[in-house]
Amino acid sequence: MSAAVLILYTGGTIGMTPTDQGLTPTPGLHGRIEQQFGASLAELPSFDLLELEPLIDSANITPAHWQRLAALLAEHWDNYQGFVILHGTDTMAYSAGALAFMLGACARNVLFTGAQIPLGLPGSDAADNLRNALLLAAGPRLPDVCLVFNNQLLRGSRIRKVSSKRFAAFDSPNEAPLGELGAAARLHHERLLSADSASRAPQLAAQLNFEPGAVALLTLHPCMPAALYDALLADNHCRAIVLLSYGAGNIPSRDQAFNAFLRRARARSKVLVNVSQCLDGGVSPGTYAASAALQEQGVLSGGDMTPEAAFCKLHWLIAGGRDQQALRDDWAQLYCGERSSD
Ligand code: ASP
Repeated sequence: MSAAVLILYTGGTIGMTPTDQGLTPTPGLHGRIEQQFGASLAELPSFDLLELEPLIDSANITPAHWQRLAALLAEHWDNYQGFVILHGTDTMAYSAGALAFMLGACARNVLFTGAQIPLGLPGSDAADNLRNALLLAAGPRLPDVCLVFNNQLLRGSRIRKVSSKRFAAFDSPNEAPLGELGAAARLHHERLLSADSASRAPQLAAQLNFEPGAVALLTLHPCMPAALYDALLADNHCRAIVLLSYGAGNIPSRDQAFNAFLRRARARSKVLVNVSQCLDGGVSPGTYAASAALQEQGVLSGGDMTPEAAFCKLHWLIAGGRDQQALRDDWAQLYCGERSSD
């Protein structure tokens, strides 16, 4: 083992530099890290750094990137104590969620991080986030795929980006942090995935067959044009739809076109999952009559899962080759602490 940690640099603000068109991910991050940390680098765990090709703004993420990450983890799994994935904040919640489902309770520490301001620019949060991620990656075993950001350790399957500006860019709204870092550092062991949680080898994760376009997110809003959702029924690639409903899980129950959509979605074997647009609280099926049609049409409850986690869970279940019935059956299982138990 040459170094303790392998950093996988996918792109994102943390490694961006200014250009005429705005911030762009830029190769050569290893050198910029050495420059930034100087002599204090010796106090950090040793690391190697792999730059993915091409580096991307995470707005361009696709399931193919998750498979690429799993393949790289599989290739290097036995050679490092832990892994740090440097990723853009925009879609961090999707990638951390996807990897959390793909790996389960990992035998190696896998930490995602990024930054709001590029490494090396004045006032940047990048060095602190990177330092924390490296220390955790090389530390005692953390079974969860986690995000470390702004001195918080959050479960990857629970995070949402909640600010486009503040250093506190992420939250896990329905779950307390797994740990705090910095001056009052504390790890909440009792909140980590338990010892009997299933582990899934990155070698197997890398062989999954993610289908682009298999899952769609549909945000409900007043007077939704039927064309917006009817198109999903006609699309054979789309196998599952996450409905972002109002409040405790309500839909426009007096809208005949939307009711017809629910019936036709069922007839066409689409799997529908209901999650809330609210940041916290989740859905509580049956609380309001305005949600009754969802139960009648067999729409699955997402509980207090984030939309990103619901999206990733469906993608991952489908990538494992499940048919519609198996997808419905396995939806209720917990795979990586992705929701609170009812
Ligand atoms: N657009 C950037 C990205 O997601 C934002 C960031 O990294 O903070 O790649």
